[in-house]
Amino acid sequence: MKVICGVCKHEYEYPIEQISHRHPELELDLVPPNFWEIKDYFPEFEIKFSEDGELILPTVGKQSNLKAGNTPLIKYREGVYLKDESVNPTGSFKDRGMENIMNEVLRHGKSKIAVVSCGSGAISIIRYAKEYGIKSLAFIHKDVDESSIRLISDADEVFYSDTFIHSYEDFMKYSLSHQEDVFWGFLNTNISYMLGLRTMAYEIVRDLRKTPDVVIIPCGSGMDILAQNLAFREMYQAGIISKIPKIAIVELKGGNPIEQGFFKGMNRMLYVIDEPVESKTILSNDTCFNYKKIYDMVTRGEAFFLSVSDAEIDYFIQKHPDYEANYDYTSISAMAALEKYLAVARPKETVVTVLTCKNRIGGNLDE
Ligand SMILES: [Zn+2]
Repeated sequence: MKVICGVCKHEYEYPIEQISHRHPELELDLVPPNFWEIKDYFPEFEIKFSEDGELILPTVGKQSNLKAGNTPLIKYREGVYLKDESVNPTGSFKDRGMENIMNEVLRHGKSKIAVVSCGSGAISIIRYAKEYGIKSLAFIHKDVDESSIRLISDADEVFYSDTFIHSYEDFMKYSLSHQEDVFWGFLNTNISYMLGLRTMAYEIVRDLRKTPDVVIIPCGSGMDILAQNLAFREMYQAGIISKIPKIAIVELKGGNPIEQGFFKGMNRMLYVIDEPVESKTILSNDTCFNYKKIYDMVTRGEAFFLSVSDAEIDYFIQKHPDYEANYDYTSISAMAALEKYLAVARPKETVVTVLTCKNRIGGNLDE
C-alpha cells in the first residue's frame, strides 16, 4: 500500500509513522493538517459483503469481537432516510475505523496509544485498545465536566492540561517524544482509519438499492465526509452507482471554517476562524484539519454547505424531543440541517442523513 505526502510529493510504503513526517510550517499548535493521499491500498481494504449481504469490515490483521458496521437505514419519510451510526459498539461511526487503527499499533510494535479529548473518538479508542491489550493514554483539559471524565475513566492513564488547546499541544509533545512505545492516535489524518469509515457509504447503497442524491453528514474533523466521498468515488468508478452523490456539509453557523474559508477563496491547507461562536458543544470549530480536502470536494461539485445555527437546532429539538434523548448534539445538528434542506421542495430526490453518535449526556463532544 502506497501513500503520498501532498505537500512534498514523497511516496511512502504504508504503514508509516505518520507523526514522524512533518511540515512544521503547516502545523497549528503542533497539530498537522491532513495532507496525505492514497495511491493504492492493500487488497484487504477492498469492500466485500458476505453471501447473506452483510458487510465485512476491511481489516489487515486480526479483528476484535466488537462488531462495528451493518447499522440500520431507517425510513424517515418518502425518499428520506436516516443512517443510524449510534448503534455501533461504542455508540459512534468512529468504531468502523478502530480495528484498522489497533492493527496499525500492533504492526508498529507499540504497546500504548495516545488520544486527545474525551469525546466519541477517545471513548472508541479506549474501548478497542482494551480488546487488543493496548494501553490507552488520554489527554484532556481540566475544565471538562464530570460526566466526560467518567466516560474516559477506562483509559490506563489520563493527562490533564489547563486549556483545550493545551491538551492538543501536550498530546502532540508527548506523542513526539515517546515514539518508541506510544502510537499517535490522531484520527483526523489516519489513513487506515478512514478506509474503515468508508464502509458506511457502501451500506447505504446496498440498503437503498440505488444511488442517493444527497447525503447529509456533520463535519467535525471532516474525516467522515472525506471517507464517504472516497467510497462514492470508488463505487462510481466501479460502475456500482450511476453518479457521485453530493455530500451536504453540516457545520455550525459562526463555527464553520470551511464554508467561511471557501467563500473567501482561501485555497490552502488550513483556515482558522478568529472568534468562533459560543455553542453548546465543541461543534463550534475554529478550524478543520481536513480543510483543504473538503474545499477541493466542494470545488469538484461533490459537496455543498448546509450550516445550521444553535437556534435552528433548538427548534428541531422542540418539535422532536425524542431525538435529544437518543442522539448527541452533532447528530441533531444534521437533523436540523435535513429539515432545513427539506423546507425547499425536492420531491424527486433521495436524501440520507447520518446520525453519527448517541447521546452520552454531557459527554457528547465531537472528537
Ligand atoms: Zn511531505
